Amino acid sequence: PQGLEGPVAELLTWADEIRRLGVRTNADVPRDAKVARDFGAEGIGLCRTEHMFFEKDRIPKVRRMIVAKTKEQREAALAELLPLQKEDFKGLFRTMKGLPVTIRLIDPPLHEFLPHEEEQMKEVAEQIGITVEELKSVVEQLHELNPMLGHRGCRLTITYPEIAVMQTKAIIGAAIELKREENIDVIPEIMIPLVGHINELKYVKKVVVETAEQLIKEVGIELTYKVGTMIEIPRAAITADQIAQEAEFFSFGTNDLTQMTFGFSRDDVGKFLPEYLEKGILEHDPFKSLDWNGVGQLVKMGTEKGKAARKDLKVGVCGEHGGDPRSILFFDAVGLDYVSCSPYRVPVARIAAAQATIKNRK
Ligand code: PEP
Ligand code: MG
Repeated sequence: PQGLEGPVAELLTWADEIRRLGVRTNADVPRDAKVARDFGAEGIGLCRTEHMFFEKDRIPKVRRMIVAKTKEQREAALAELLPLQKEDFKGLFRTMKGLPVTIRLIDPPLHEFLPHEEEQMKEVAEQIGITVEELKSVVEQLHELNPMLGHRGCRLTITYPEIAVMQTKAIIGAAIELKREENIDVIPEIMIPLVGHINELKYVKKVVVETAEQLIKEVGIELTYKVGTMIEIPRAAITADQIAQEAEFFSFGTNDLTQMTFGFSRDDVGKFLPEYLEKGILEHDPFKSLDWNGVGQLVKMGTEKGKAARKDLKVGVCGEHGGDPRSILFFDAVGLDYVSCSPYRVPVARIAAAQATIKNRK
């Protein structure tokens, strides 16, 4: 890779000859994707599309989509977002030069895109053409006591399938244009988040596939794409055999899976976890290093059940643990196909994957 030279590059090349696990990266923008590629990433394992929604030229459109009173208004706002999202994906595909790219449909609860501070309300209301009262009323309606267990992930695209339609058009449209204009073959992997029940996956997958097929037919081009799911809710791991009937790939979201298996809020853990570690109640921070006995058993079960149900199922991990050597040792042992981590952890993941191959072989 261009980013590394000399003995380090050589060491990594040796590691690559040994390791069984693939190493991908989590990247949302071409700049990060480029860093990761230079560090040897073999694809993108997670693109969190919502990050693109926060860009200055998109956020007013996203907000207009959220406050829309009718489906027509929502679709009009989404139509404005479509060309921008398509450019985002073209940038990522171009940087990855045909390597696999997994793009996740929108995940966070919609209130995250709206202002909560009084001072910001007036400016935002003006920007999107509604009154401050109307904006406050939407913020109130979207309020949830437990947003991380609330209206997010596939629950959003089940309520608003038109968001999945827009994102699918952007992903497939970007792949088609790259193939036609730049001769780059991309096999996009569309990933549905927060699935806990097979019917959630079936519903959103149908929207994705119908949209993709229609677009591909219109253009008259051959394009392969994949549809898969995150496994990040304990129920998804437990019913992985059913879920694999509908998914071409799994990616374990060990951040949410840890949160939901322990019942620890990802966002509030700082209040007690330091004492848990100090008092030896837990040996490791489970959000940083995989809990082998609990969360890990769900990863193992999900992988085994999934692969038994679908022989060619590809299984990866894209939570924080994908870049942690101790967790990588476990992922190798239970037969995952790849790990995906932040760009700067890619070299460490390559070495850890090689060590895992050696240790687990014994
Ligand atoms: C996860 O839950 O592990 C994951 C990768 O998704 P996010 O962190 O975006 O919830
Ligand atoms: Mg998650």
